[in-house]
This record gives sequence, structure tokens and C-alpha cells, in this order.
Amino acid sequence: MPALDALVINDLRKVYRNGLEALKGINLIVKEGDFFALLGPNGAGKTTAIGIITSLVNKTSGTISVFGLDIDSHLEAAKACIGVVPQEVNLNIFEKNENILINQAGYYGVPRAEARLRAEKYLKALHLWDRRHDVARNLSGGMKRRLMIARALVNEPRLLILDEPTAGVDIEIRRSMWALLRQLNEAGMTIILTTHYLEEAESLCRNIAIIDDGRIIENDSMSNVVRKLQREVFVLTLREAIGQAPELNGFDVTLRNEHEIEVEVTKEHNLNDLFGALSAGGLSVTSMRTRSNRLEELFMRLVESKNKVAAP
Ligand code: ADP
Repeated sequence: MPALDALVINDLRKVYRNGLEALKGINLIVKEGDFFALLGPNGAGKTTAIGIITSLVNKTSGTISVFGLDIDSHLEAAKACIGVVPQEVNLNIFEKNENILINQAGYYGVPRAEARLRAEKYLKALHLWDRRHDVARNLSGGMKRRLMIARALVNEPRLLILDEPTAGVDIEIRRSMWALLRQLNEAGMTIILTTHYLEEAESLCRNIAIIDDGRIIENDSMSNVVRKLQREVFVLTLREAIGQAPELNGFDVTLRNEHEIEVEVTKEHNLNDLFGALSAGGLSVTSMRTRSNRLEELFMRLVESKNKVAAP
């Protein structure tokens, strides 16, 4: 049986009151059971999209459904399927950690006795059980994040959405969060996370959408995206005019015009092979440049922002 769609977004737009167009018509499908990354630089629109899916932000137009439930007509039922871990810490810092979870389960109609059991289960899973009587205020930053994850899990959501779950979290905690998220996904939970850590998306996610300036500029499997990043497209200007793309010893060649071809070169290729094939074909090259690749440019920006975050 084909997997259900956990999330379907159609032509979603958001214009904030100050006129800023944060989402310019995005379309996205996330299948049930997927581990999906929404990647993009700061300001791309990731948090806005998540805010709309979780009904914290009003959309300007477009439709969203969660497991087939339209959030406009079936808001409560759709919300019951979702657990969300926001980017900003939004805990009641004076409330006891255990109660934070029990009360959250209560909002979803989980009976008190069951809520207690779940609070225990998820506090233990997030290594916070020994802090159950403490208040959130006394937890470290990493513990607060873990508590927010536990809180998002108490209603046992089918779809877990995490907005930058490991931003500012040290590497050890990050790895233990990854292990937990993998476990939850293996147990069948659909997970969507936003991140600007490439390593995080690459290590966890099967599918990925890259959002930049309110638009989705890439939506593919993680392995395809990685492959695309490992190739470069060169534009070669030829001395002789040609009528069709030449055969070049297995290289992927496209004709741009009678004097220009584009050749795709992967990281394993050797440029000498390319020039050998060109000479063998009687073609002389008068100039060569790389075609700029939006995806690579974006990744460069992401890496830069990652370095900024990592800098002391
Ligand atoms: P990301 O999560 O990818 O960093 P956001 O969704 O937070 O991006 O922001 C997208 C754009 O919307 C940014 O330009 C941001 O400044 C703007 N924005 C976010 N929230 C508001 C708001 N409440 N009012 C006006 N503009 C906002």
C-alpha cells in the first residue's frame, strides 16, 4: 500500500503585516514515515512555514493538510496529529518539569493516569527523569531543549516537527538527540526538521527541501542533492560551429548554441579526460567557465552561516 501523505502544502503564501512576503507560494509533500529536512539560510521562511502548519501563524493563502485533514476545516483533528518543538524556548520556567508534560498531555485529552505514565516514559527517554521535580528554570539550555522534545512527544504525535532542534546545543547532546529522533522515525513517526546544519540533514534525513527567500528551490532525496553538489557544469566555447551536442566519451553534454556546449563533470572525473575527448572529436576550446549553480551558492551561504554559529 502506498504511504499516506503526512503533509501536503499547496501554493502557500505569507505576507506579514509590514508587507514582507516571507513565503512566495510553496508546494511540498511529505510522505508518512519520512524523515524530512527543510533546509535554508536564516530568513528563508522555514519558521514561518512551520508556524503556519502548527497554526501559530496565519497564512495569507494556500492550503495545508495533515494526514488528509485540512487545517482550515479540521484544525483540532489535524493538531492532534502533530507534535512541535519550536525554536524559541517557550516553557513555563516556574512549572515542575514532570507537570509540564502531564499538563501538555491533558491539553490533548489524555487521562491523568495515562498522562503520568507518558510523562515518565518521555522524561526517561530524554534523560530528564532525575530532574522531574525540578523546575524548567534550573535546567541547562540543552536540557530545556530536551524537555521541549519530551513535551512534544506526550501526545504521541504521528508527525513530529522540530524547528532547529540542535541550534546552540553541544555536540554530545546533538548526537544523542539524533539517536532518539532516528529511533522515533524507525518506530514509524514522520519527522520534519528545519536546520541550517548540512551535516544534520545529511546524517538524518531521507528527503529534503531547500527553501531560499520564500521559495522552494530544491526538493529531492538527500542522496540526489548530495550527488548534484558533487558535480560541476562547465560552459565551453568552441572555435568551430557545431549543429548538435558532440559525443564526449561518456560526459553529459548539452548544446547551448552553435559555439557553446555545457559539460557536466563529477568530482570523480578528470578534466584531462574531457580535453582528451574534445581533441579526439576535433573540437578546439577557446574558453571555459563554470556555470554558477544556485544550489551550490546556497550551500556556500549555509556553510558560512554555520561557521558563524560555530565561531566562539
Ligand atoms: P527562517 O526560519 O528560515 O530563518 P523566518 O520564517 O523566521 O525564516 O523569516 C522569514 C522572513 O520573514 C524573514 O525576512 C523575517 O524577517 C520575516 N518575518 C518573520 N516573522 C515576521 C513577523 N512577525 N513580522 C514581519 N516579518 C517577519
